[in-house]
Amino acid sequence: MAGTFTLEVVTPEELLFKDEVQFLVVPETYGELGVLRNHAPMIAALDVGVLRYTDVDGRIKRMAISGGFMEVMNNEARVLAETAEPGDDIDVLRAKAAKERAEARLAAKAEDTNLARAEAALQRAIARIQAAEMK
Ligand code: ATP
Repeated sequence: MAGTFTLEVVTPEELLFKDEVQFLVVPETYGELGVLRNHAPMIAALDVGVLRYTDVDGRIKRMAISGGFMEVMNNEARVLAETAEPGDDIDVLRAKAAKERAEARLAAKAEDTNLARAEAALQRAIARIQAAEMK
């Protein structure tokens, strides 16, 4: 084992997760960013997508996050996300319904549709479905 570091995931509502992990991958605007123990200090803007980490037992776990920031310092990665849900806690039917609503709004192209908002809702729903269904 290469060694562990602390992952903390915080939303405006709660400290959702704090534990030692072996490896972390977060979604960034232009791809993914991996973090191992002894990573250099860094701040990164995160995209809507799936965060995944390898726990101390070597299991890969996933969370949907809807954008935010990550700070890495002194073997601690702190993710500050608008919303975050562990894959096991995601209501897939709710996410699929949200995806269909957003797709219908985007397809209808109604004048009063806020396209950016519908696109953001679509991305959140896709991330939730992926985090819940990728095992
Ligand atoms: P919806 O239209 O289904 O409410 P949304 O993308 O508008 O989806 P958000 O505003 O991003 O929802 O999130 C509101 C709250 O609901 C957050 O606390 C978020 O973690 C939670 N949440 C949203 N969708 C799901 C889901 N599918 N399963 C579990 N929790 C969810």
